[in-house]
Amino acid sequence: MIIDLRSDTVTKPTKGMLTAMMQAKVGDDVYKEDETVNLLEKRIADMFDKPMALFFPSGTMANQTAIKLHTQPGEQVICDKYAHIFNYEGGGASFNSGVSCKLINGDRGMFTASDVEKSINPPDFYHSPLTSLVAIENTTNKGGGACWDFDELKKIKAVCNAHNLGYHLDGARLWNALVYKGETAKQYGDLFNTISVCLSKGLGCPMGSVLVGDEPFMKHAIRVRKILGGGMRQMGFAAAAGLYALDNHLDRLQEDHEKAKELETVLTTLSYIQKVEPVETNIVIFELSDTVDAALFNKKMHDNGILISDMGEGKMRLVTHLDYTNIMHNKMLDVLKTLTF
Ligand SMILES: *Cc1c(COP(=O)(O)O)cnc(C)c1O
Repeated sequence: MIIDLRSDTVTKPTKGMLTAMMQAKVGDDVYKEDETVNLLEKRIADMFDKPMALFFPSGTMANQTAIKLHTQPGEQVICDKYAHIFNYEGGGASFNSGVSCKLINGDRGMFTASDVEKSINPPDFYHSPLTSLVAIENTTNKGGGACWDFDELKKIKAVCNAHNLGYHLDGARLWNALVYKGETAKQYGDLFNTISVCLSKGLGCPMGSVLVGDEPFMKHAIRVRKILGGGMRQMGFAAAAGLYALDNHLDRLQEDHEKAKELETVLTTLSYIQKVEPVETNIVIFELSDTVDAALFNKKMHDNGILISDMGEGKMRLVTHLDYTNIMHNKMLDVLKTLTF
């Protein structure tokens, strides 16, 4: 038995999901004739109360499209130093949109309205890049699945309005935040101009992300997706997995959160671990004690059939998910309790 906690992206489609995929009614999505894709886009647009949604093969492509829609080359995006768009999209913001990032030194990937205010370059000071977009990530990935305070997001929206800045949400794991906080997609739709959500993380689909947003921004989204290489044909097979996941895998995220919380509880009692970041959703980040060699820790985990992510500098990451069963969870807790260094 392999217990793979490297990411919530390692899940495989369930039988029910595969059946839904096999039975999907499909057409050529480049002609917008795939009724399952159209259904998924309509459903997610409605959830967020936005006029438009567009299906993408990946979250990276959805974010990259959003950045392009909000900016012109030479401009600047405000985001946290931990942001996925800055750290893990291959330099795409500069490659695709010709923009730079002004990084905020936030707390677990989150910052305040006052941080944003201070990061805006004065528009008439032509020596600096023109600030045009604020990008938020919820939950924060590198920040350990932390959820934003919604009131702070509203305050940041007011700053965006006052300075005429676009407001984008990288909501790859927004589903986890909605479940944890008891918030609604519509609340987020009210606030942000564009939002990307992943189907391939906690929801357990083999692929797919959706970008939702307002008309003036989204009008060009399909052209940008095309330029990035993303016109797809009978994509209803993938969209059907998304529809199935929204029906069957959304509420159960609670279970992933409970397991992550139990891991946190055990980890905090262990002598070979010096710090566990507060767990809210399905990501657990912890630091080994200075005396424990990371390579040795990883080897011992591996010998027990457990795969985790080594983030460097003694930091480790676990992510709970759909394929992490109760049996695996109990074994994982036992192994953690019995390891010695
Ligand atoms: C995974 C992830 C993405 C990108 O999604 P891919 O489908 O892997 O391209 C974007 N943002 C965050 C925060 C993520 O965790």
